Amino acid sequence: MSSDVHHGDRDLEGELASPAAGQVGIPVDAICVGCGRIRVKRVRLEEVDQEPTADPASLEATELTSFKHVCYPCEGATWWNPVAVLSGLLENEGESA
Ligand SMILES: [Zn+2]
Repeated sequence: MSSDVHHGDRDLEGELASPAAGQVGIPVDAICVGCGRIRVKRVRLEEVDQEPTADPASLEATELTSFKHVCYPCEGATWWNPVAVLSGLLENEGESA
């Protein structure tokens, strides 16, 4: 039940850069309901029942709905539950006008 989050053993930016994360949307840490693995996924705000114009930095993972995304160990699209909004990774991508 520890709420400590250690990202030291994961390369979140590397996961986000992976094609498996997806092409568009905001970065979220999400857990696959099929196999239980946690991966960084890009998700469009509409997919998690948020306004497209919402500020990712103000979103809480608990506000987001489950979304469908591909999971390679599950060999197809499965449901993922958001566990964290990685708005920090978004900032690292720089401002786009
Ligand atoms: Zn899976």
